[in-house]
Amino acid sequence: RTVYVNGAYVPEEEATISVFDRGFLFADGVYEVTTVLSGKLIDFGPHMKRLARSLGELDMPSPASEEELLTIHRGLVTRNGLNEGLIYMQVTRGAADRDFMFPPKDTAPSLVLFTQAMVLRDKPAARTGIRIASVPDLRWARRDIKTVQLLYPSMAKMEAKSRGADDAWLVEDGIVTEGSSNNAHIVTADGTLITRDLSHSILHGITRAAVLKLAADDGVKVEERSFTLEEAKNASEAFVTSASTFVMPVVEIDGQPVGTGTPGPIARRLREIYLAEADRSAI
Ligand code: PMP
Repeated sequence: RTVYVNGAYVPEEEATISVFDRGFLFADGVYEVTTVLSGKLIDFGPHMKRLARSLGELDMPSPASEEELLTIHRGLVTRNGLNEGLIYMQVTRGAADRDFMFPPKDTAPSLVLFTQAMVLRDKPAARTGIRIASVPDLRWARRDIKTVQLLYPSMAKMEAKSRGADDAWLVEDGIVTEGSSNNAHIVTADGTLITRDLSHSILHGITRAAVLKLAADDGVKVEERSFTLEEAKNASEAFVTSASTFVMPVVEIDGQPVGTGTPGPIARRLREIYLAEADRSAI
C-alpha cells in the first residue's frame, strides 16, 4: 500500500512520523474518514468543512487547502487502485519538544493519509442488523471535535463485544448520546425518526446530516431531540449512521429485541436512498 506522509507518497513500510509528534504524545490531532464507492469519494466537501471546524476549535493550523486535500485523496485512490473502502486522514499539531503548552504557531502540522480496502455496500450486517450494548459515556465534553483521542470509544466497543454485542451506544444520565463511532437514531411507532440534536455532546455526523435531509425529502417526520435508553429499547426501529456503515439497522439493545427484532422498513429504505444519493453525488 502507498500512504501519504507530509508531502510524499511512500510505501507504508517506509512511512515515518516523529516520536515527538503531538498526535502521538498528547492525542493533539484531528481526523476524517471519507468513503470510496466505485472509486469515487462520498460527501468529500462536508468532511473537509468539518475538518476545518475541528482545526479551528483547537486553534490548529490547516496543513493544506481543500483542493490540495482532494488531490491527495484522489492520488491515493489511484495509486492503490481503491474501488471500495475508506480514506483515513489525520492532522496533528506536529512535532515539538514535549510540553503541555502548544508549540509556536509556525510549527508544521503533520498530515497522514492511508486507504483501507473494504466491502461496505454489501456488508452482511446490513441485512441482519447489529446488536448494541449500552455503556456509560465517559468521554470528554467536546465530542463535536473529531479528535484522535479514541481510547474510550475503543474500550466501549470491547465492553460491548464482551457482552455479546456488535457495538456500543454511549449513555449519559439515561440519555443516548451516540454510538462509539456512529450517530444513534430511533423510529417511533408512528414512524417519526428521532435523533439527538446537535451540540458539544455528539459528533456532527456527515452521514447523519445527509440521512436526515433524505428522510425529510422522502416524507419521514424528523425530530431532533434527546431520547433515553428506555425509549430506544421500546422503539419500533433503531439504526446508526456513519461514513463507513451508511445506515445500519440495530435489532437488539442490551439483549432486548427492537421492534420485530429484524431490520426495520424505514432503516432499510434510508440505506437504499442514501446509497443511491451517494452514487449520484460522488466525486
Ligand atoms: N459519532 C462518532 C463518535 C463517530 O466517531 C462517528 C464516525 N466518525 C460518527 C458519529 C459518524 O460521523 P460520520 O457520519 O461523519 O462518519
